[in-house]
Amino acid sequence: MPKRVVILGAGYAGLVTALELRKNATPEDTEVILVNKHNYHQLVTQLHELGAGAKSDTSARIMIEPVIRNKYITLIKDHVESIDPKEKRVRLSQQELSYDYLVVALGSETEYFGIPGLKEHSFILKSINQARLLRTHIERCFAEYHYTRDESLLTFVVGGAGFSGIELVGEFADRMPVLCEENNIPLDKVKLFNVEAAPSILPGFDKELVERAEKSLTERGVKFLVGVPIVQVEPGKVHLKNGDVIATQTLVWTGGVRGNQIVIDAGFETEPRGRAKVNEYLQALGYEDVYIIGDSCFIINEETGRPYPPTAQIAGQMGTAVGKYLFADLRGGTKEPFKPQIMGSIASLGRKDAIAKIGKNYQATGRFAYIVKDMSKLRYLAKIGAVIKKA
Ligand code: NAD
Repeated sequence: MPKRVVILGAGYAGLVTALELRKNATPEDTEVILVNKHNYHQLVTQLHELGAGAKSDTSARIMIEPVIRNKYITLIKDHVESIDPKEKRVRLSQQELSYDYLVVALGSETEYFGIPGLKEHSFILKSINQARLLRTHIERCFAEYHYTRDESLLTFVVGGAGFSGIELVGEFADRMPVLCEENNIPLDKVKLFNVEAAPSILPGFDKELVERAEKSLTERGVKFLVGVPIVQVEPGKVHLKNGDVIATQTLVWTGGVRGNQIVIDAGFETEPRGRAKVNEYLQALGYEDVYIIGDSCFIINEETGRPYPPTAQIAGQMGTAVGKYLFADLRGGTKEPFKPQIMGSIASLGRKDAIAKIGKNYQATGRFAYIVKDMSKLRYLAKIGAVIKKA
């Protein structure tokens, strides 16, 4: 009887796990089931491009079937509802599955910090469908402005200036002139705010790169409001801690992420923001048959004593490692503790500009950094053997 490996989530971590495991495990020794709520894999690192309307949805949507074809991976398109690790069962909305080994790669959720009205009255960018909602909303704001001349329609607020917020305002900054031209509206009617609670944008990132990003974006019309948290949101209004109120029809919240509720509800040990604690082999504490990886888990960087950030780069590396660990579980063999190899971090600043920290010491900016970022996406697509339509 083959052992059954069930992988929950076909994001960067889950899809790579399935592909890596299948490099070695044969259908005779292992059954691999991949559960995902869509029949496509989403390049969530590119959603800011979609949300601003710079690229089409197809540029971030990878159909899973061609990627797993002939690899003996069964894709079940369904929602995961709950996990029972004691009974070794997973409940989906249409069926139940038992497993010998489970990989939980369900990603993260948006952290709203209990800010009143924020969840109800903001856009987020965690899926292609959410990006599409944002894009069509912005187009509608421009169209409606013709009739109402309501300035709040052309006031756009991004809450949070971490990597997600900065990449999004970069896209907005390049997109607004195009939308103004198409709608025959002077560019100076558009207001684009990026609100950040911390004293600086991109908290914790290299100072020179932060200044470079700030300059590039400010020159293209972004107004940064730093050191002022968003404290309340109502329809048409964003309230800041300093008492200011921004009248806007568009708030995009990129203020933080937390772990997945399904992981918390399953009773796995988690840290305060809901990410699962795992051992050096990415196994859930107390459950050697459950791996929790990607944004759903939490690992500490021993050099800094701080948690590694939840990034696609680390999620993919965890997928590769767990594909190997599972093979060792199934066939016997040694496992090397997981240690991420951080190649660097790159934030795009629109269509042509970016800031990059490569390795520990090297920095890059401008078109070159932008190309490096594009190359890392292409490298990933080649690794999973994906075919992508041109945007
Ligand atoms: P984040 O947590 O990194 O940033 C959120 C920002 O929102 C913080 O700067 C925080 O101070 C701010 N904030 C929190 N509460 C606020 C409030 N009430 N008002 C205003 N600002 C508030 O979240 P993120 O940017 O979504 O990134 C999540 C993870 O994904 C990070 O680890 C990041 O490095 C990673 N990421 C990487 C890339 C890339 O490598 N290009 C792109 C996007 C995200």
